[in-house]
Parts: sequence; structure tokens; C-alpha cells
Amino acid sequence: MLIVMKSHATEEQVRAVCQKIEVLGYRAHPMPGAQRTAIGVTGNQTALEPGTIDDMEGVQEVIQVSKPYKLVSRDVKEDNTVVQFPGFEATIGGRELAVIAGPCAIETPEQAFVAAERVARAGARFFRGGAYKPRTSPYTFQGLGERGLEILAEIRERFGLIIVTEAIDNESLELVEKYADVIQIGARNMQNFSLLKRAGRARKPVLLKRGMSATLEEFLMAAEYIMSEGNYNVILCERGVRTFADHTRNTLDLSVVPAVQRLSHLPIVVDPSHGTGKRNKVIPLSRAAVAVGADGLIIEVHPDPDRALSDGNQSLFPDQFDQLMSEVRQIAPVIGRSVALPMVQPLVTGAGSSSR
Ligand code: PEP
Ligand code: MN
Repeated sequence: MLIVMKSHATEEQVRAVCQKIEVLGYRAHPMPGAQRTAIGVTGNQTALEPGTIDDMEGVQEVIQVSKPYKLVSRDVKEDNTVVQFPGFEATIGGRELAVIAGPCAIETPEQAFVAAERVARAGARFFRGGAYKPRTSPYTFQGLGERGLEILAEIRERFGLIIVTEAIDNESLELVEKYADVIQIGARNMQNFSLLKRAGRARKPVLLKRGMSATLEEFLMAAEYIMSEGNYNVILCERGVRTFADHTRNTLDLSVVPAVQRLSHLPIVVDPSHGTGKRNKVIPLSRAAVAVGADGLIIEVHPDPDRALSDGNQSLFPDQFDQLMSEVRQIAPVIGRSVALPMVQPLVTGAGSSSR
């Protein structure tokens, strides 16, 4: 159920409606918009009787939301969600595209610092790198764990990059929440409902990757799990789905971008690295992702991809990432977006610097 407040409703009236909802045993999710505030009502009991709220001060309308996802839906919030990062200029979902780049996994401080230096110089404002790796084989590199998170935190200090890294269970989520700026939930965990609920109680934004065989509705319902716990800063990520195609690792479903944007206010970024699994396809698919209207890209970049401990085949050389940035920078303005400029000044790499 959705309560639409009048455009001139006061904060007090919004608060009173929220209180009433909570007293009745439901959860209230106020969503301020440009025109008016809407209040999403969730709870797994029977539907709230409309008459109980209708006559309250400041209430314009009470609407039954028929879609299975509520808080994720544009019915509840018309304006796009723009995820902000305190202390940083960059956003996800704003006019400037969010470019998240870095290696699949943090391997050594040297590898991570070189990658960070190169992607920051090329104009990326977000750094990715796994400290916890959900690997298909238990015998392959599983990540550096907390040591990897410490390296990531140092990268934020040195290069002023916003840190995105994956949590694979409740225990790693605790630590990722402490060290990083964005909690990534991987494709393999898209329907790990207890992890989604825990991420919903975290105070950091969540980047939710689409499961390898998830329908659009399943993808949005996974985001709903996070939002239903009170974390409204969710970023969706298309990373390719399993099909019969064998010329790529996965099939990057770019049509999901406009489909999501029609149904939801949440930003959606595209991962052409996992989406194709092949280095030579990452730049073309990045161009396409920007053209289709994605809010950003997440790209694997490694200083020495042929020696990478994971996903080397799909990781770009830093020079290729420069090329990718230069190409998407030219495409973005066609659809009213922009990509940050490369840095002209050499980066100062002392602690605490965020030279931009
Ligand atoms: C990753 O980002 O390195 C990763 C493991 O992604 P996914 O969950 O999409 O496979
Ligand atoms: Mn990877």
C-alpha cells in the first residue's frame, strides 16, 4: 500500500501518518519526492484497511500497489534515486556516469595501488576489487579477506576513490560495511535472502548484481528485500545471464536497462567484464551500455591481466581502460550524460590526499 501525501503536507503530518502505520503493526517508508512525499507501507500481515489512514491530515490518497515489489517501484517514488557519498562529489544515478573500475580481486598492495592509480587517472571515481571472492572452485584464490579491505581503505585515502567490494556472508558484510563505501552483493548471492536482509540493515549503499538466471521480477524482488529493511540506497547491476551462447561467458542483457528504468527509480549500472568474460568485448559492450542509458559501468582492470589470480581473461590492460573512457566520454553527451575527465596532474599518492 502507498500513502500519497498532499504537496503542502507538513513534516509533522508525515510523521503522524508513519506513527499510525507502525502502531498498526506495519512498517512505514517515507519517500520524499520533488512534488510530494509518498509513504510505502510494508508488512507481511494482511493488507492495511484503507479507511484507517484516509482521513488523516495531509493525506491525499491511499493506493493499493498491485506489483509484488513496492519500495523499488516507480509507483512509490517517481523521481530517480541518486545515491550520494558523504565527503565525495561523485554520485550514482546522477548526470555524471559512475565508473567503477579495478581488478577482480585484491592480490597485493602493489597490484592494487597500480590499478587504482591508473583508473583514477583515467577518470574513474570508484574503485572495485574483491577481498572475498565467491569462486566456483574451492581450490582457486579466495581473496585476502580483511587484509584486502585494509588495502582498499588505503586506496580511498591515497587516491580519493570510493570503494566498492563484495560481501559473501554476514560475517564478511560486517567488515565490508566497516571498511568500504559500497557493499557489493554478487550474482551467486542475489537470492541469499538472509544476506539481503542483513545488507538492508547496513548503513552503506548496496550494489546488487543480477543472478545468472534471474528474471527481471526476481531481480527487483531481491532489491525489495534490501529496501524493506530500511536501506534505500540500492544500485542494480546487470552482469550477464546464462544462455546457450558459447562465444561469451555470459550474455549481457542490455535490454534490462530500459526495462528496469521503466519500472523502478533505482539506478542501474552495467558490468561488461563478467557480462562477456572476454577482454576484446569489454570496450564495445561498454559503449553500448552507455548508449542504452545505464547509470554507470563496472569494469575489471588489472596491471598485468595475464598473471591475474582471477578473471584475467576479461580484465583490461590499463591502456585499454584509457581507451574505453575516451570512447564512452564521447557517447555520453548524446544522451545527456557525462563522464569525468582524465586527470592532467600527476596523482599525489601520500596518505590523506584526494587530489581531483
Ligand atoms: C565480481 O564482481 O568479481 C564478481 C564475482 O561478480 P559476479 O557476482 O557478477 O559474478
Ligand atoms: Mn571478477
